[in-house]
Amino acid sequence: MQFRDTGEESAFRSEVRSFIQGNLPGNIVAINQNRVMDPEQQTAFESWKGALSQRGWFAPHWPKEYGGAGMSVVEHFVFNEEMAEARAPQVGGMGVQMIGPIIIRFGNDEQKAEHLPKITSGEVTWCQGYSEPGSGSDLASLQARAVRDGDEYVVNGQKIWTTGAHRANWMFMLARTDPDAPKHRGISMLLVDMKSEGLDVQPLITMSGEHVFNQEFFTDVRVPVKNRIGEENRGWYIGAALLDFERSNIATAIGLKHSVMDLVTIARGLKPGAVPRHDREQVRNQVVERLVEASVARLVSYRVIDIQRRGGIPNYEASMNKLFGSEAGQRVAATGVKLLGMYGGLVEGSKHAANGGRITLSYLATLASTIAAGTSEVNRSVIATRGLGLPRS
Ligand SMILES: Cc1cc2nc3c(=O)[nH]c(=O)nc-3n(C[C@H](O)[C@H](O)[C@H](O)COP(=O)(O)OP(=O)(O)OC[C@H]3O[C@@H](n4cnc5c(N)ncnc54)[C@H](O)[C@@H]3O)c2cc1C
Repeated sequence: MQFRDTGEESAFRSEVRSFIQGNLPGNIVAINQNRVMDPEQQTAFESWKGALSQRGWFAPHWPKEYGGAGMSVVEHFVFNEEMAEARAPQVGGMGVQMIGPIIIRFGNDEQKAEHLPKITSGEVTWCQGYSEPGSGSDLASLQARAVRDGDEYVVNGQKIWTTGAHRANWMFMLARTDPDAPKHRGISMLLVDMKSEGLDVQPLITMSGEHVFNQEFFTDVRVPVKNRIGEENRGWYIGAALLDFERSNIATAIGLKHSVMDLVTIARGLKPGAVPRHDREQVRNQVVERLVEASVARLVSYRVIDIQRRGGIPNYEASMNKLFGSEAGQRVAATGVKLLGMYGGLVEGSKHAANGGRITLSYLATLASTIAAGTSEVNRSVIATRGLGLPRS
């Protein structure tokens, strides 16, 4: 495997780096995007979004005709790598990563004209209404109902764990349009205006005190039929096609390295005796192990991109990437809490909290990362069956 950039990749990397140097405001570097920004950060964030959008870099991998930059898989990887190294805040969210590519591939001209420009300008944000209280890993069992009434669907049901629904303008949702068909074949994808009458969004506050999730109750919500993506009852296959758009998430691996280096900085600055003598060697060894894991995570990401570079589609390798990165993130946070001893229990707001309480926060926040986007058990199962050819049970 060749890790060095080609001449073109190296030139592109320099271009991205100098763009970041010239445009990324210092007060939004490494911000926690789940927290409300102060007004100065908000202004800085808008100007960062504007600079990216002007360059077509808000949706870097989209075709140019839809407002993207038409980056290849490798260019996009280099772009993400540089953004993550600079700790730049992520932009675009589910609009850019998920529903935009779906609309480009399956949407009609009217849907493209209405939604794509507002995604690439950063004007509109989206959320994903897939999970329900009884349907997560087995998503195809979802029960939210959409019943046709003339040129509208009437939607009833519940969605849950919807990241960012409280800030989103639109939701792309999966709803059951044919309850008599086999479960994968009776689902449609609908675009729902979050201001629709009968749509009630309620917050779910996580144990880290953050408002990330929500649940939504649909009571006779009317969704125009023109907001359906693709054919009726084909929504499952459209949703599944999203997986084709998945690209190696180098940002996770680089974030891990940053977190480990934060631990190293803290460890170097600890007063003598801050960590009890009998724990010292253990903690030191753990920090070293975490650094090794961050490097492994990077190599696993490189493997995924290398498969794509050669025109392949990562399969169980993407599961390895997700599984290892998310579990390593939990271990880094746990090592941080151990390193801080009793101070590891202090949160943001306490004047004695190390690193602004960020390590403690990430200890709590990373617990969810082995559930999101495919649980560790489900990913292990994919690796076992598809990667190793082991029987299902
Ligand atoms: C941070 C975060 C963000 C999220 N954002 C969104 C969002 O924006 N939109 C959205 O729609 N959803 C979102 N989700 C929900 C997420 O998709 C589901 O939590 C996930 O699919 C798991 O479903 P579940 O919680 O119902 O658990 P279940 O599927 O009920 O799983 C419960 C347990 O059983 C295990 N299990 C289930 N099936 C199998 C199997 N076949 N083999 C082995 N073990 C199995 C699981 O691993 C888990 O341990 C988010 C979740 C998290 C944590």
